[in-house]
Amino acid sequence: MRIVEAARELSDLSYAVKQGGQKVALVPTMGALHEGHRSLIHMAQQHGEFVIVSIFVNRLQFNNEEDFETYPVTLEDDIAICRSSGVSALYMPSSKSMYPESFATSVEVSGLTARFEGASRPGHFSGVTTVVTKLLTASAPDIAIFGQKDFQQFAVLRKLVDDLDIPTEMMMAPTIREEDGLALSSRNVRLSAESRQLAVLISQGLFHSLSLFQSGIRDRQELIEAARQTCIGEIEIDYIAIVDPQTLESVSEAHVGDVLLFAGTIDGIRLIDNIIFCA
Ligand code: AMP
Repeated sequence: MRIVEAARELSDLSYAVKQGGQKVALVPTMGALHEGHRSLIHMAQQHGEFVIVSIFVNRLQFNNEEDFETYPVTLEDDIAICRSSGVSALYMPSSKSMYPESFATSVEVSGLTARFEGASRPGHFSGVTTVVTKLLTASAPDIAIFGQKDFQQFAVLRKLVDDLDIPTEMMMAPTIREEDGLALSSRNVRLSAESRQLAVLISQGLFHSLSLFQSGIRDRQELIEAARQTCIGEIEIDYIAIVDPQTLESVSEAHVGDVLLFAGTIDGIRLIDNIIFCA
C-alpha cells in the first residue's frame, strides 16, 4: 500500500493508474476507521481496481472547536486496517498542505445545505464541499463512495459533482450498525456506558417507524411521531423529518425511497441516523 501525502503525487499516481486501464475508486474519511468505513472500502473494491482511501480530519467542517479537538485519532490502527483490507493507496495530507495560510477558496452548494445539518451546524457543509472538491480534484477518481449514514451529505455532494461537471460516479453504501442497531460512528467512542444504552433508542425509533410504513401507514406526522415517542425524554431531539431523497424537501405522505432523517444529542454528543423507507 502506497502512502501519499502530497496532492500532486496523488494526481500523478491516479493518472498513471488510469492510463494503465484501471478504474480508480476513492473513499474519503476522517479516520478512526470502523466497520462502516471497511464496508465502503469493500464496495470500492467491487467497482474499481485501484482503491484510494483518504484520511483527513477536516477542521473546516467542524462548527465546534471542542468537537474538532476531541475528534478521535487512531492513525496506526487506521493504516493497519487499510493494509489488511487491501487498499491500494492511502492519502494522508497534512492540514498545512490542504489549507496553507494563503488558502482563500470556499465551495458552496446552496439549497440542499440550508436545512437539517446545515441549519444546526453553520459552515459545516461548505467545509465538506470544499474538502471533497479538493479530494476529487487531486485523486480524479472514476468512482467515489460515501455512506448512507450521512444522507444529507451524500445528497449535497451528488449535487456538487453534478453542478461542477466532475466526472466521478457517486455511490452510496448502506449504513453499518452495531448488533443492537446503533449506527457505527467514530464519535460513538465518546458515549458513556449510560449514553450508549440510550443511543439505541434512535435506531429503535427509526425502525419502529419503518415497520409502521411497511404495515401501510403513509401519514408523515404519524410516522415521525412513532420515532419521536421512542426517544422522547431520553434524547434531546434536534430534528426528525421525512424527505424526498433528491430535493430533501419534506413530504406530506411517505413513499418508498423517501428518507426518515434523525438528529439528536445525548449527554452533549450529537448523533445522526436515517432510514430509507422500503416495502
Ligand atoms: P467519517 O470518517 O465519519 O467522515 O465518514 C467517512 C465516510 O464513512 C462517510 O461517507 C460516512 O458516511 C461513512 N460512514 C460513517 N459511518 C458509517 C456507517 N456506520 N456505515 C456506513 N458508512 C459510514
